[in-house]
Amino acid sequence: MKATGDLQLLKRINRSVLLRLIRSQPDLSRARLAALSGLTKSTVSALVRELLDEHWLSEAAAPVATQAMGRPSTPLNMDTSKRVLIGIEIAVDCVRLVCVALDGAILTQTEEPLRDPCPASACQQVGALVRLLCQQLDEKKLLLSGVGVCLPGAVDGALGLVRLAPNLGWRDLPFMAMLEAEFAKLGIPAAHIHLQNDADAAALGEYEFGGSGDDSLIFVNCDVGVGAGIVLNDRLFTGFLGTAGEIGHSILQVEGPLCSCGRKGCAEVFIGARALGTAQGVAQSGRYLGVLLQNLDAMFNPHVIVVGGRSCIEHPCLIEAARTHQHAYAQVAGLQSPQVRAARFGVQAAAVGAAALVLHQFLRPLLKEAKHVSRN
Ligand SMILES: [Zn+2]
Repeated sequence: MKATGDLQLLKRINRSVLLRLIRSQPDLSRARLAALSGLTKSTVSALVRELLDEHWLSEAAAPVATQAMGRPSTPLNMDTSKRVLIGIEIAVDCVRLVCVALDGAILTQTEEPLRDPCPASACQQVGALVRLLCQQLDEKKLLLSGVGVCLPGAVDGALGLVRLAPNLGWRDLPFMAMLEAEFAKLGIPAAHIHLQNDADAAALGEYEFGGSGDDSLIFVNCDVGVGAGIVLNDRLFTGFLGTAGEIGHSILQVEGPLCSCGRKGCAEVFIGARALGTAQGVAQSGRYLGVLLQNLDAMFNPHVIVVGGRSCIEHPCLIEAARTHQHAYAQVAGLQSPQVRAARFGVQAAAVGAAALVLHQFLRPLLKEAKHVSRN
């Protein structure tokens, strides 16, 4: 890497260090930032100036007196009024698009049927939605920081590839490059595009915007299929080939009913939307979901498990039933249960998560560098 490249990366890292400190501790002064980051005061001052000019940060209009002796300080916070993130979920039957502020507040949301699941058509539909939203952002003088896209399938986010999305019928598709070409064709201002699996994105949405920064966190998405997004040690854990979290196809019953994947007794057969037709079905699904949560706890011992997806919105009692059964398993073994809670963003969980992906990557410049190095 060239020296200039090194310096630019170093600067991005230092900026991200400051932004992450300010996100986790509101109202920090420049002096506290220098103390906490280990950077010199002059470096902090210069970087804060840049971040203010670029509307990542805002500062209070007037300095406030500090308790200690010395000059009054000016509290710094994330600027939630100017920069926005766009998140898009391409689901099996619809496209959801949200525009969120840097704190995750949803500013606008749109949903429309997925007109045609063919990749080129989906690209065009997404492009048209983003172009319209960009025009609205322009009118409101808002700045777009990036676009995140998620879909139900195994995704290589670093290479921008969809490996396999069976419910869309997509396989080995350079979808990020297709989106970039479509955006360029439509004259959409150059914005970073990120691609991720829907449950992984939803997990990041809860992690970045859930308010408590719980680590580790698992998001269980209950829809036609059942998948999980796993945040471990401040990173998305996607596995060797990007398929980690395909818990819908973990086996809950040996020689059980046939699953869509060809195996028998998968979790999806018991918990997937098709199993929820009757009240009895919901009760049984809740029980099996509790087993699944118990297995996730045994494997990862997460701090929090968030349960979301369309099935939980249509059958709110599903989560409570699962929690009760998981809790019983923990009690028998004399162990503490993880927190189990409903998704904060409801039906928008994946779309908001796609927007969170943009921020997550921006705040971790080494993540992207490391991925590019390791996969090249
Ligand atoms: Zn299966």
